[in-house]
Amino acid sequence: MYHHHNVKTAPGFSVPEMMKAWILGDPGELTFAKKPTPVPGRAEVLVRIDAVAICATDLEIIDHGPPAMIQGGPPFNKRFTPGHEYMGTVVALGAGVDEYTIGDRVTVEIHAGCGQCKRCREGMYTACHNYGLNYGEVNKGHRANGFTTDGGFSEYAVNHINTLIRLADSMSDEEATLVVTAGTAMYGLTELGGLVAGDSVAVTGPGPIGLMAVAVAKALGASPVILTGTRDNRLKMGLELGADHVVNARQEDAVDAVRRANGGRGVDYVVECSGAAQAVNEAVRMVNRGGKICLAAFAHEPTVVDVASIVRNNIYLYGIRGEGKSATHRAEAFMRQKRFDATKIHTHTFPLTDLPTALRYARERIDDAIKVVVKAGSAERTRKAAA
Ligand SMILES: [Zn+2]
Ligand SMILES: [Zn+2]
Repeated sequence: MYHHHNVKTAPGFSVPEMMKAWILGDPGELTFAKKPTPVPGRAEVLVRIDAVAICATDLEIIDHGPPAMIQGGPPFNKRFTPGHEYMGTVVALGAGVDEYTIGDRVTVEIHAGCGQCKRCREGMYTACHNYGLNYGEVNKGHRANGFTTDGGFSEYAVNHINTLIRLADSMSDEEATLVVTAGTAMYGLTELGGLVAGDSVAVTGPGPIGLMAVAVAKALGASPVILTGTRDNRLKMGLELGADHVVNARQEDAVDAVRRANGGRGVDYVVECSGAAQAVNEAVRMVNRGGKICLAAFAHEPTVVDVASIVRNNIYLYGIRGEGKSATHRAEAFMRQKRFDATKIHTHTFPLTDLPTALRYARERIDDAIKVVVKAGSAERTRKAAA
């Protein structure tokens, strides 16, 4: 049985001493194995994971390593469990926790900063100065589950209470896994100024974050909202999520089309979610003078940037990492109030035991996969939730 000093459990929510989790070996190599159920410390809880969505970043981590960092280095062969977009049920409380009770249904954000560095104190815990320094002699208490600490492709995970978002019963498990994606889009728009009502926004790249950026910008009152991409099925989904205009960059010049869609002036904001090599320079030409650009995608290569245009036109460039400044709470509120339907981007569900198939669907976009969710627990629970 699961008994640990200063950890509260409750009848009806029994926790095993050992759990099943996917463990990363060499690059690309995952095995489903037993490992000790983790123990929450001060201000932490144990979450029984009910559903977890796959993110492009998970595929990066599993195949290449960064931005995951375990014990100061690459995440391979360290019995590390990836996965970061999960939701579940609180089943044990660490010391000092009275904000949540056992049985609470929650979704999570990824980053619990150390809470003691300058950025954490500013609410920028996704840019914590102690990222990954959560081990050994330099343990700073930082967690980014699925990046620097064990994540959600597992039956249980430990979460700091600051990373929990309580869920309404009306939100399905699958939808709840998308709160962090919508929260990342919300953080981007927060950094651009937040009050975007009546302002024009272009989103480049209709991946999950781009599609959620369209939905969040629209819910915040931006007008017009323009989405650019290269796949018609994704652009169509952008229209369903609130885009006023979509631009297929294979068929027309994306910069011209975006400027045209806003009366030839260019837009006030660009949220860049494609990571494409020329995306920054295109964004610089899409915004009007004094406009702002948020870079939200991990680009694969360094890029030559037209600095003169940025200076000449007084353009602001922001890089964002993850879902800072409690943006997930604002995203959850929008979703709970049905201001947009995030479930449109959820396309497939597999059992946790079938994670390799789920990863393949996400990686190869089989059957137009966008967000692929894996569900833990008994087949019966999975079926019930799907009904
Ligand atoms: Zn993610
Ligand atoms: Zn910090």
